[in-house]
Amino acid sequence: MIRFHPWFAVVLVSLCLVLVPSAPAAEVRHEIHFPNVPGHQTIACDLHVHTVFSDGAVWPTVRVAEAWRQGLHAIAITDHVEYQPHKNDVPTQHNRSYQLAEGTAKAHGLLLVKGAEITRDTPPGHFNALFLTDVKPLDTEDLLEAIKRANQQGAFVFWNHHAWQGAEKGRWLDVHTTMVDNKWLHGMEVCNGDDYYPEAHRWCLQKNLTMVGGSDVHDPDLRLKSEPSDHRTMTLVLAKERTLPALKEALQQGRTAVWCKDRLVGKEEFLRPLFDASVELARPHLRTKDGISLEVRNLCDADVRLRRTGRVGPAEITLPARTTILLKIAVSDSSKPVELSYTAANFLVAPNTGLGVTFRIPGP
Ligand code: ZN
Repeated sequence: MIRFHPWFAVVLVSLCLVLVPSAPAAEVRHEIHFPNVPGHQTIACDLHVHTVFSDGAVWPTVRVAEAWRQGLHAIAITDHVEYQPHKNDVPTQHNRSYQLAEGTAKAHGLLLVKGAEITRDTPPGHFNALFLTDVKPLDTEDLLEAIKRANQQGAFVFWNHHAWQGAEKGRWLDVHTTMVDNKWLHGMEVCNGDDYYPEAHRWCLQKNLTMVGGSDVHDPDLRLKSEPSDHRTMTLVLAKERTLPALKEALQQGRTAVWCKDRLVGKEEFLRPLFDASVELARPHLRTKDGISLEVRNLCDADVRLRRTGRVGPAEITLPARTTILLKIAVSDSSKPVELSYTAANFLVAPNTGLGVTFRIPGP
């Protein structure tokens, strides 16, 4: 009979621990919270990102993984067609960034939009074309011709960061009017990175253009999650379902809101259902002779800042993202219904104009 020294077992177990590889750490995603609205899903999209295939510092698959981790549902890779500063190391191949990212996007369940950024000096500026089938035909000298060719592929086209080199240079020109008249320009970035452009917001309202916001990220995005106080600028698209055709239809119809820093920017008809789905008032749990107490819940990832416009209720109320607050309201007669009128100051339906909201609290 063979006898093993007790130390043999210790050595064997230690060897196994060293030699058997441990399971790889799972990729972790932190969801973004904006509720769906009646009839539509709220899809969090970054429609403006760059890779090494133009002037970005990141390989295309990395863009997909970082967006998935941060809770996004869709991204568009929009490398510059004309600006190719890495071309000595990464030869110009206009369709390659999308091709490389496609499989990773499928594996992560992330919608990947094939796009490109048509790039000219400002003015007239930069334009993203999304849902392209082939980027190569856009590589042409004439700006209008490039925009036209994007439209021949059924693209959704928007004007990026119009004022990034100063409002003076980002002015509206005849060439932009030509694009709108031909139905070749469908939207504008009202926010890019941390910048908000009130003029673009106004133009979108006047000309019925879709409001878009994107990170325009070039470097690696090191955030692990999207926080209320630290997140990429993104477009919340209200789509019939979470698919690329539904995303395109929603963008064409203008159903968007842009989340940039602590604000939501959009058209009133889309910010209102988003607000209504996000803010919930419970029935009062306490009524005294001259006051009522109730809970108010904010389900979304943006703080909501309310300013009173009526005569009842606190002058200002802040509903921190994804929390419930206790609201105490002084009333002259707590047995009657109460109506509270406020402006959601950081839900911008026009420059300097918050969304007007009314809360109705029924009687006992
Ligand atoms: Zn860009």
